[in-house]
Amino acid sequence: MSLPQTQGSPGTRPGGRSPRVLLTWFALGLSSILLVGKELVEYSQGRGGPSEVVLSLLITGLVATAVINARAAGTDVERRNSESESFSRIMRALSRSVSPDAVVEAIVQELGAATEADHVAVVRLRPGSAVLDVTFVSMLPGAPTSNTVMPLRQLEPVEPHHLRELPRPQGSGTSLRLVDGEPTPVWRDDGGGHVDPSAANEATPSVRRNVRARSRNALLDEAQAREVADRIAYRLRDAYGLRNTLAAPLQAEGSIAGAIVLSRRTGGIWPEAAIRLLSSAASEASAALARVYSHQAAESEARTDQLTQLPNRRYFDEYCRLLASRRRSTDRVSILAVDVDHFKKLNDQYGHQVGDVVLRSIANAIQFSVREEDVPVRSGGEEFMVLLSNPGNGVALEIGERIRQNVRDMDLLDAGVTDRVTVSVGVASGQRAGETIAEIVERADRALYAAKRTGRDRVVEAWHSDIAQ
Ligand code: GH3
Ligand code: MG
Ligand code: MG
Repeated sequence: MSLPQTQGSPGTRPGGRSPRVLLTWFALGLSSILLVGKELVEYSQGRGGPSEVVLSLLITGLVATAVINARAAGTDVERRNSESESFSRIMRALSRSVSPDAVVEAIVQELGAATEADHVAVVRLRPGSAVLDVTFVSMLPGAPTSNTVMPLRQLEPVEPHHLRELPRPQGSGTSLRLVDGEPTPVWRDDGGGHVDPSAANEATPSVRRNVRARSRNALLDEAQAREVADRIAYRLRDAYGLRNTLAAPLQAEGSIAGAIVLSRRTGGIWPEAAIRLLSSAASEASAALARVYSHQAAESEARTDQLTQLPNRRYFDEYCRLLASRRRSTDRVSILAVDVDHFKKLNDQYGHQVGDVVLRSIANAIQFSVREEDVPVRSGGEEFMVLLSNPGNGVALEIGERIRQNVRDMDLLDAGVTDRVTVSVGVASGQRAGETIAEIVERADRALYAAKRTGRDRVVEAWHSDIAQ
């Protein structure tokens, strides 16, 4: 992953003062020395009393105090400026982020540099799943970024004695906690740094309740958000051997979307500035993630048929374009064109709504009949298509027959349909080099037409239909 490099603000150096300020301090210091010197000389010559010397020392003390105070105030202002510069850089990068990965990239380096953390981890709940994607970045130059997944079930409750409350930064809506204590190994690793995602479904009910709330649109309160962030930090400590962590929750659509966790090798309290910046970055990253996720959801909806939840024609066309660009001359593609027989009659007899129920059942039957790697779509009205990549000899015909039989066997009595519903299927496979997927689809359609002409409720392969014409 390439990460943006942090840049300092031009023309400034940490702790640097402008020449005019330095000149003022120099003048004040010199005047004080001259004043004390003069009083001491006069006193030693018997021309002045001790009270003048004491007065001059007091004046010098006052001047020194004023200078120290000005320096401290200046350092404070500088720190605030650099904090707000870091924050604006994060904001700028986030505004350009169009994917969850880009959101992570936008915050990690800047946050690491500005908070002087040794590691920054961003943990995101993968939408619609029970796994968290973990991006773990070391701030050491040249150290690789690690990407792993953490099953939700690993976010079991943290023992209370591991949690140490931190003061809440003023004006911040998010409070943070330091996770402390000796971790015990609970992270199941496959040896290559990758955690077994198959175990994801074993998430404990409470974790599922808290973390998967997004899918149920439940609003989480701040305490729950903090608790999940704490658990994430605790698991990271186990997995990466971290010592001193600071965590802030990521929230999208009012529910948990993950956490950002900073870590330092040294113990001790995190500076207020680091806490403030992490808190602001987490809330901005949360907003960016919410925007990106909702964009992705809209994109996915545009490619999904709302009645059957199968991919739609748009998805199919895009998939074919992608496949065409990667297709090798030896690759074989088969297309099944499926059309419901006399569906108009069924609609007329039972009504459009029952027709919709039947279409959903047919979509299920098709999905049930195809292999994991096949792509079934609702291509329009009462028509479906299935794309098979590299099917073995006879496989396309076999799947077509399976679809026909499974649709024929559907029990639609619950929907009030007593007639048997059937489909006709046309099958075509890419045979000659250079044949486009569109041409294969065309031959599958011709085969389907032949199946209709020769009596319906049957599967016809393109070769035979071509001969028949
Ligand atoms: P054939 O066996 O020759 O395919 O006859 P058919 O009646 O199935 O074909 P036709 O093209 O004449 O009719 C298709 C019907 O599918 C007409 C249309 O109302 C219906 N249809 C298309 N989309 C939907 C839908 O989303 N829901 C329902 N209920 N019906 C639909
Ligand atoms: Mg039709
Ligand atoms: Mg039809």
